[in-house]
Amino acid sequence: YSKEKSRNRFSVYHEDMDRETKEVLTIEMELRKAIERQELSIHYQPKVDVKRNKAAGAEALLRWNNQHFGEVPPSVFIPIAEETGLIIPIGEWVLHQVCRDLTTLDQYGFADFSIAVNVSAVQFSQDRFVESFRSILFEENMSARRIELELTESTVMPDARMAVQRLTQLKTSGFKLSIDDFGTGYSSFSYLKRFPIDYLKIDRSFIKMMDQYDEDSSIVEAIITMAHRLRLKVVAEGVENKRQLELLKKESCEIVQGYYYSKPVPLSAFIDFLFMEWPDESK
Ligand code: C2E
Ligand code: MG
Ligand code: MG
Ligand code: MG
Repeated sequence: YSKEKSRNRFSVYHEDMDRETKEVLTIEMELRKAIERQELSIHYQPKVDVKRNKAAGAEALLRWNNQHFGEVPPSVFIPIAEETGLIIPIGEWVLHQVCRDLTTLDQYGFADFSIAVNVSAVQFSQDRFVESFRSILFEENMSARRIELELTESTVMPDARMAVQRLTQLKTSGFKLSIDDFGTGYSSFSYLKRFPIDYLKIDRSFIKMMDQYDEDSSIVEAIITMAHRLRLKVVAEGVENKRQLELLKKESCEIVQGYYYSKPVPLSAFIDFLFMEWPDESK
């Protein structure tokens, strides 16, 4: 009802709106049809285990190629999907697709791989979120152990009590859990200790700082030390050069992700990446 009402209101005032508002509405209307028109796809970015010098999995990143707008970046359409609630069906579509792609990876011999899926606050705060994700895995005949859920601090911190409960349900169901973009949000360390999480992903802004000013690698070192004390594994995102990689290795960061290894790419290119010969970095 309220949706209907706001839609009418939009059409009434449409002509009076500034250009930006009109554009948002058009993106919203196009986004509503994105799934059925098969305009969504997923790109995969490798997560590299630095000790074994081997890909351990990937992060699934949503892509939208619209018939009118072309490629729309996630920074534009994800916030609109969140505001309109469209992120819920879209997020379910992502999980379905990731399960199918994991099955394809199995056929190539990568049965020990897991794939990370991003989860927005809007999805996480739904009462039926856990049930919805569990039932998709059941439908797709996929184990939750193959799925890692990435949640940001701003998703889990505002209602930490609820978050602990929900994260525990997810953990019990077998999902791996990580805190994404760590260091940019609330950073309430006391709660971090209570969350049943597996990984901390250091935000790429800190990784970027590492090769600019020397003292800024001390922040990264501090985060890694703290994470290890809490028995969490560390993922560094946005690694773009060898210098960053070497510093992270020295600090015993477990997993790295970034353009240095690969940009996010379609599944077929990700599979090519997995079969590529790697130089032995340990020598
Ligand atoms: P995120 O989860 O923090 O993803 C990391 C972003 O950093 C991705 O941007 C990735 O392409 C980019 N990136 C990775 N390595 C590098 C690097 O070395 N250098 C630089 N400069 N950037 C790098 P992308 O794909 O544009 O996604 C942006 C955000 O959109 C994601 O941030 C995530 O919050 C959101 N998002 C993407 N896909 C989904 C999805 O399926 N569901 C939800 N809820 N959110 C999603
Ligand atoms: Mg992420
Ligand atoms: Mg991130
Ligand atoms: Mg980010």
